[in-house]
Amino acid sequence: MKHIWAPWRIEYILSEKTKGCILCDKPGEDEDEANYILYRGKHNFVMLNSYPYNPGHLMVAPYRHVGSLESLTAAERNEHFAIISRGLGVLREVFAPAGFNIGANIGRVAGAGIEDHYHSHVVPRWGGDTNYTTVVADIRVVPQALADTYRLLKGRF
Ligand SMILES: [Zn+2]
Repeated sequence: MKHIWAPWRIEYILSEKTKGCILCDKPGEDEDEANYILYRGKHNFVMLNSYPYNPGHLMVAPYRHVGSLESLTAAERNEHFAIISRGLGVLREVFAPAGFNIGANIGRVAGAGIEDHYHSHVVPRWGGDTNYTTVVADIRVVPQALADTYRLLKGRF
């Protein structure tokens, strides 16, 4: 049997699930570096996913606590996708990925971890970044620390 060292997963599993909403709470704090907030737009912000599937895994979220995409105003939605688009450019410049996944999990049954506050995921992909562990164990090894990723991406939006 192989053992895989994946400390960010156990941290997630053991972490106390807070009552509040991190996508409301984090931008409300003046701690962007500690919270891995990379960019603040007028209606949306960009934050590194603390439990990334790959280095550079971004989350883009509106400041407003709404559960689904259709609840965004046109201005919020337009900026949301403009920021996602910019995020692709930033990740290309810094990490030169071979591809991306962009997506959202809406509702608990769809796999949403933060189910009441809509957010989009942007995940850079490289050839060979997937292997059997993803399929069987929901474990993936991320070789680069979050703080390093933050430093590389900060100021580029
Ligand atoms: Zn919220």
